[in-house]
Amino acid sequence: MTHITTRLCLRDTACVEVCPVECMVLGFPEEEWPWLYIDPDTCIDCGACIPECPYEAIFPEEEVPFDFQGEVWITNTKDLLPDGAPFEGEVDGHYVKLLNAKKLDGSETLDLTEDIPPNYDYFSEGPGYDHMDTMTKYMEVGAKDFKFEG
Ligand code: SF4
Repeated sequence: MTHITTRLCLRDTACVEVCPVECMVLGFPEEEWPWLYIDPDTCIDCGACIPECPYEAIFPEEEVPFDFQGEVWITNTKDLLPDGAPFEGEVDGHYVKLLNAKKLDGSETLDLTEDIPPNYDYFSEGPGYDHMDTMTKYMEVGAKDFKFEG
């Protein structure tokens, strides 16, 4: 079992700082990997990350909802969220800068279980831990001033 991040993740990194096994990785490049991802082979299911997320984007794998509804911001790749747009501003008191996002009005039902595979894919097919230095820089300068280089 593992914990899972979902499309409700707006790239806040408070969860990264509390993970005792450092298995939460911010996705780079953002166009392909727009959330944080949890390494399922390393996560020890301690649950420390859940209360740190201001957007309630993290769930134990077996509790990821298939019928989620809410007035929330979501982010995803352009392929999976074609009507999204760049967004920069405050959400729930936290500054975010996102390449492709949209706010839901609460009437749409989301199957968040579809977000389970990307957590596995980021480590099996994607960059995995390759961008740890980039993530550290992102956390140092903040979303507002961060520029991805390579
Ligand atoms: Fe890290 Fe614990 Fe969250 Fe797993 S549940 S990602 S080990 S903080």
